Parts: sequence; structure tokens; C-alpha cells
Amino acid sequence: MTRQRCADVIVVGAGLAGLSVAWHLAPTARVLVLDQGSGPGEEASAQNAGMVRRLGEDPFERALAVRTAARLSGLAEQHPEDWAASPAHRTGALLALGRDPHHLHDAVAHLRAVGVRVEACDRPAELAPVLAGAPPLAAWYLPDELVADAWSLVQGFRSGLRRAGGQVQTGTRALALLRNGARVIGVNTDQGDVFADRVVLAAGAWSAALARSIGLERALVPLRRSLLMGGPHPLSRPDHPWTWVDDVGIYARPEGGGWLLSACDEVVDWPAPGPGSRGPAEEWHRALAADKLARWMPPLAGLRLKGGWTGLRTLPPTAGPCWGRAGAPGLWWAAGLGALG
Ligand SMILES: Cc1cc2nc3c(=O)[nH]c(=O)nc-3n(C[C@H](O)[C@H](O)[C@H](O)COP(=O)(O)OP(=O)(O)OC[C@H]3O[C@@H](n4cnc5c(N)ncnc54)[C@H](O)[C@@H]3O)c2cc1C
Repeated sequence: MTRQRCADVIVVGAGLAGLSVAWHLAPTARVLVLDQGSGPGEEASAQNAGMVRRLGEDPFERALAVRTAARLSGLAEQHPEDWAASPAHRTGALLALGRDPHHLHDAVAHLRAVGVRVEACDRPAELAPVLAGAPPLAAWYLPDELVADAWSLVQGFRSGLRRAGGQVQTGTRALALLRNGARVIGVNTDQGDVFADRVVLAAGAWSAALARSIGLERALVPLRRSLLMGGPHPLSRPDHPWTWVDDVGIYARPEGGGWLLSACDEVVDWPAPGPGSRGPAEEWHRALAADKLARWMPPLAGLRLKGGWTGLRTLPPTAGPCWGRAGAPGLWWAAGLGALG
């Protein structure tokens, strides 16, 4: 049987992970991106809060976040053909600790060593008024932290990919990986088989199921989390840093005169085959958030929580995403980004 090779690289998944990989490869390889959705970037990449967080506990994720923030800052200048304006803007961030004041000490030392500005904060409520009346045990201020616009990133990656001759084929569901002996040689889809030298698995919450089609077990666990909208509220101003009481699990960032916030809830939830991982915010999400706001962000107690959604963050079993070549010749991974879009 002859197999027609339709690309050098097939990327399964047109979220931030798959499109970024494809955009980087496109100038030197023929890239075909497949997505089951009706458009690119409609799953986790459309469900996030956009905070680019460098001050995190895990050293591997931290190093990636430092590189990502640097990359995002220069993206529009270096690639004006794909981004007319920067897909990320500086808001500053305040990371507070309610239970263990030492929780982020190693992370602070690391960031300072690589030149990231991190300031200890004795009176955090002066910088982040949402903390007024509930002084945390410790707080760190990062004046250069960013908020990224995932939609703008998706569009820019897609435009660059097109310019370089790459293709995004939506409405196409990968059903299984195809092998010749040990080697992965393509993908079986609901539109037929497609073949390439390499396959990149960037299918977010569905990655583990696709890997299983060739007997590979990767414990990538989808955790559902809520994001709620609240407001309007007088403290919601563009110069208010996004604020996260890290070891308690509550964050809020100003958005359109109100607040986008999460009580950092997590429920394991394996998605059904096919698109559609977004879910509704429920009463218990609002109750949990209201409880944490009252305790840790008193000025937001009683905030009218009027909308929101839930989405899937896919976490690998050990720290750091599932990234690079693994499992079988010809197979590459860009999955398990977890909290790090
Ligand atoms: C509520 C919430 C808040 C978040 N907040 C932040 C934040 O503030 N900061 C941050 O950095 N990150 C945040 N994240 C995490 C971030 O959104 C994700 O890490 C990131 O979007 C993952 O991108 P991805 O491309 O791996 O996955 P996805 O965006 O889910 O993309 C996977 C793609 O693969 C496609 N696909 C899956 N299976 C198949 C198949 N069989 N065939 C074809 N296509 C397939 C899907 O349709 C989808 O488009 C948050 C996530 C959630 C849910």
C-alpha cells in the first residue's frame, strides 16, 4: 500500500500549545494542524484568566514561565506581520501567602537571580486594595507581570502559519495514532488517514486518550476549574495588580470594571470524545469563592458573582508539561501545560 505523506509534521490540536509549536516549525517544515473544533483555540485556550505567572513553586515551570514572559514581551515587535499590537500587557501582580510565609522563598531567590523584579511587600493593601482588612502573612509584588490575550496569540500564530504555507484543518477529529512497526507515521481521523514524518500530540485534555490508541499510558489528568465574573466594583481599575493568595487558592484580576476570579477549585473530569470542554459555573463555585473572598479579600465580600464558566487544566503526574520526543519514534508531545497557557 502506498501512503501519501501530506506534511512533514502533523500537529493534533490547535490550542495555544499546538499552534505555538506549528508557528515555530512552519518556516522550515510543512506543517498540518488538525483540530476537532469548528475553529482553533476553542478549548482550554479560550477558558483561561490570561495571567502570566512566573512566581510559582515548581522550578521547571518557573523557568518556562520566565522564558514565556520574555518571549511574549517582544512578540509584536519581532513579528509585526502576525501581531499588530502586543498580545500581552503589563499589569503587575501581587502574590500573597495566608498560611505559610516561606512558601515562595526559593522561587523569589530564583527569579531575582535571573533579574526578575520581585519586591517584598509589608503593606500589600497599598498596592492591592482588595487585600485591605485581611493582611496576609507575607506578600511579594512583581511590577512587570503580564496578562496575555490568548485569542490574539491564537490569531497571530495562525496568521504566521498561513504565511509560511502551513495549514490548520478544523472540524477534523483524530481517532488514533498510526504506526508502522514501532514508529508513529500519521493519524487516523474521521476524514481519513493522514501521514507525516512526525506527529505532535497537542490535544490538551484529550492527549492521554490518543496516546492510549498505541498502547502508551500517560497519566495526564484533566482538572476542571471555575472562573467567575463579579462586579461592577470601584476597586477594579486597570492599575490594580492581579492578586493571588497562593497557599489559600483565591485570585482576582480586574476586568472591564469588575473582577475575574477563581477559588482555584479542582475536580478530576475526563472529557468525552469530541469538542466541548467548557462547562457552566455552578452555585457551589460561587459559594466557595464568596467564602474565600470574605476571609482573604474583604473588600470583595458580597461581590455580585454574575457569570463565569469552568474549563479543563490538564496536569502531568510529575511537575512540568509533557513536552518533547517520547514514547515512540516519530511521536512528540506538547501537552499537560496545566496552569501554564
Ligand atoms: C479556568 C482556567 C483558567 C486558566 N488560567 C490560566 C492563567 O491565568 N494563566 C495561564 O498561563 N494558564 C491558564 N490556564 C491554563 C491554560 O489555559 C492551558 O494550559 C492552555 O490553554 C492549554 O493549551 P493546550 O493547547 O494544551 O490545550 P487546549 O487549548 O485545550 O487545546 C487542545 C486542542 O486539541 C484539540 N483536540 C483534542 N483532541 C483532539 C482530537 N482527537 N482531534 C483533533 N483535535 C483535538 C482540541 O479541540 C483543542 O483545540 C487556565 C485554564 C483554565 C481551564
